[in-house]
Amino acid sequence: MTTSVISPLGVDSPARGLECRGCGARFPLAAQHACYECFGPLEVWYDAEALARVTRAQIQAGPQNIWRYAGLLPVGQHEADRVTLDPGLTPLVRADALAAEIGLRAPLWVKDDSANPTHSFKDRVVSVALTAAKALGFTRYACASTGNLANSVAAHAARAGVPSIVFIPHDLEQGKIITTAVYGGDLVAIEGSYDDVNRLCSELVETDDFEDTAFVNVNVRPFYAEGSKTLGYEVAEQLGWRIPAQVVIPMASGELLTKVDKAFQELVEAGLAVAPELPDGRRGWKVFGAQSAGCNPIATALHADTDVITPVKPTGIAKSLNIGDPAAGLYALEAVRRTGGWMDYASDDEIRDAIRLLARTTGVFAETAGGVTTAVTAKLIASGKLDPTLETVVYNTGEGLKTLDAVSALVGPTYRVKPSLKAAREAGLLS
Ligand SMILES: *Cc1c(COP(=O)(O)O)cnc(C)c1O
Ligand SMILES: [Zn+2]
Repeated sequence: MTTSVISPLGVDSPARGLECRGCGARFPLAAQHACYECFGPLEVWYDAEALARVTRAQIQAGPQNIWRYAGLLPVGQHEADRVTLDPGLTPLVRADALAAEIGLRAPLWVKDDSANPTHSFKDRVVSVALTAAKALGFTRYACASTGNLANSVAAHAARAGVPSIVFIPHDLEQGKIITTAVYGGDLVAIEGSYDDVNRLCSELVETDDFEDTAFVNVNVRPFYAEGSKTLGYEVAEQLGWRIPAQVVIPMASGELLTKVDKAFQELVEAGLAVAPELPDGRRGWKVFGAQSAGCNPIATALHADTDVITPVKPTGIAKSLNIGDPAAGLYALEAVRRTGGWMDYASDDEIRDAIRLLARTTGVFAETAGGVTTAVTAKLIASGKLDPTLETVVYNTGEGLKTLDAVSALVGPTYRVKPSLKAAREAGLLS
C-alpha cells in the first residue's frame, strides 16, 4: 500500500487529514478548525503505519528539543521548514520533599516547562502551529491569548522576521504584557475578557484583511493542539520510556490535558513506551485536571456528572487559565473519565500557598497556573482521588517571574541588618 501522499505540509509528514472530534467526518489538511457537517472541532489524523515506523533510536538521535518527535508531529520533519524557537526537553525534576509534604509515598516528578524559550509550554504549540502556517502560505502570525501564548507568538514572529498581531484582554499581568510587547509586533489590548477576545478573533479571521493571517489557536488550531503532545512524549522518554501512572495537568481550554493523554496512547500503539500496571490490574494511566475556583467550568461539570459545560465569567489570579468557555472541555472530561482520573480546583489563597510550597520544596518558581496544579495535587491526595502509592507527574506550565504580584505581598527579606558584625549579631545571625 502506498504512503506517498502529496501533502501541503511536506512529503514526509505522517499527517493525512483533519478529522471531526464530534462526528468523525474527514477533511483535507488545510487551515480549517470546525467541521462543515456538525461544527465540531477538528483534529489531525495520521497514517498509523507511518507513526508505527518511528523508533526510539530515531528519536534519541534527533535534536535536543521537540523536533526529535517530528516523526509523530504533522509538520517540521525538515529543519529548514520550521518556524521555531526550538522549545522542549525541559527538566523533569524529582520532587521527594514535595511528595513528603503532600503525602505521596511513590516517586513524584515536576515537569518544569517554565524552562522553555519564552518560559511557558506555549512555545511547543506555537512552533508546531506556525510551522504549519508557513507551509500553508500564511504571511502574518496572530493569536487570542491569556498571556503566555502572546509572548510566544510575538517571539516566534520576531525570530522568523514575520509580522505579528496579538490580541489580549486589557487587564493581563504587566509581566505578560511587557514580555509580549518587547518583541515589537502589534499588541492589541481588548476591553473585555479572554472569551470576548477569542470571539473577536474568530470574526476577524473571516475578513479579507486577515486572509493572510494565521491565528495559531483559531484557523490553524488543529496543528497548534498537536504541539501539546510533546509534553507527553518527553515525560515518557525522560522516565526511560515508561508512562507515569498518574499525571496532573492544568486546564484552560482543556486541550493540553487531552493531548498528553493522546501522546501516551500513540506511544503505546507505536510500541515506543509501556503503560504501567495499575492496582486494579489494567495497564494504563490516570489523567487528573486542575482549574482555579475563579474559573472551573470543566471541573464543575465533572463533579455534577454531566457533559454540559456551563460557561463562566472568570475571576481570580490564575489568569493564564481563565477561559470561561473551554473549547476542549468535553474532551478533557472524556479523557479523565475514561482513565479513572478526577478534577478539582483551588482558591486564590491556595494557589499562593502552593506557589511557595513548590518553590520551597523543589526550587521551581511557578506562575499561578503551577500554583493551581500543585494545590490541586495536594487536594486530590487528601480526598483520596489520587493514589498516593503510584508514580505521579505534576506539570508546571509557566514561570513565576511573569506573575510576581501573586506572591509579592507574602515573601521578602527575612532579616534587615546594618552592614556590621555587631548588627548581624544583634539580629540573631551570629551567636
Ligand atoms: C495555556 C496554558 C495552559 C492550558 O492550556 P489549554 O491547552 O488551553 O488547556 C496551562 N498553563 C499555562 C501556563 C498556560 O499558559
Ligand atoms: Zn463533525
